[in-house]
Amino acid sequence: MARILFDRFPGGHRKALTLSYDDGVVEDRRLVEILNGAGIRATFHLNSGTLSKAGRVGADEVRTLYAGHEVSVHGVVHACLPHLSRESIIGEILEDRRALERLVGYPVRGMSYAGGDFNDRVVDQLPSLGIEYARTTYGHTGFSIPDDFLRWQSTGHHRDCLAKGRDFLNLRPTYGLQLMYVWGHSYEFERNGNWDLIEQFCRDLGRNPAIWYATNIEIVDYCRAIRSVRCNVDGNVLHNLSGQEVWFTDCAGPEPVARSIQPGQLLQLDA
Ligand SMILES: [Zn+2]
Repeated sequence: MARILFDRFPGGHRKALTLSYDDGVVEDRRLVEILNGAGIRATFHLNSGTLSKAGRVGADEVRTLYAGHEVSVHGVVHACLPHLSRESIIGEILEDRRALERLVGYPVRGMSYAGGDFNDRVVDQLPSLGIEYARTTYGHTGFSIPDDFLRWQSTGHHRDCLAKGRDFLNLRPTYGLQLMYVWGHSYEFERNGNWDLIEQFCRDLGRNPAIWYATNIEIVDYCRAIRSVRCNVDGNVLHNLSGQEVWFTDCAGPEPVARSIQPGQLLQLDA
């Protein structure tokens, strides 16, 4: 068995939870309050062109409402990207980035596909537009890290979150990063009269010391940091080339041990 396993999130956690909500609707205010009460963090994919319109949050409240969460691209006007010219695809994404960045004050680096619509032609544009992940509306029903963050499939929609949440909590630690990713629209809770669904989910999964609560981009950044750690052939010297602390399991002893390596550190493991 290999000695070093990169199977831990920050803090040594084996499990991470992230949520993703689209369209920037006024029901996000109630959702954010529920999430904040449970210490659960999310990413909100916004259409800058519809902010402050009927049923949407105001541009002037974006920064404070979503503080502690992530604001991300969903297209300026929620256009179906595969149907657009290349120039319009670029405009939908880059101008949404620009507008949202002016509101939140940090680089906006992710998105979700409006209407869930994408194709290879759209995906090919994303790296040059500074987009580092893009969530689809597909769900794999599992808890895996995606191979391709530009075609990121969630665990599933929030309609299934209670049963899935219990599965996630009951999941025994296996060697591998375990991520639960739930997506939806907050207006669905209002329309379907089921705010209790997300409230129960937050009671079930919130404030759990075994879970790392992250935004979408934090998951991406941490996975990238893992890939930035270099290891010697013998497997006892690690070099962390990333800018953040990376956690791993050291299987050299009789019991596996959680350890970490600091940014820039060259770590010699004991024999
Ligand atoms: Zn949408």
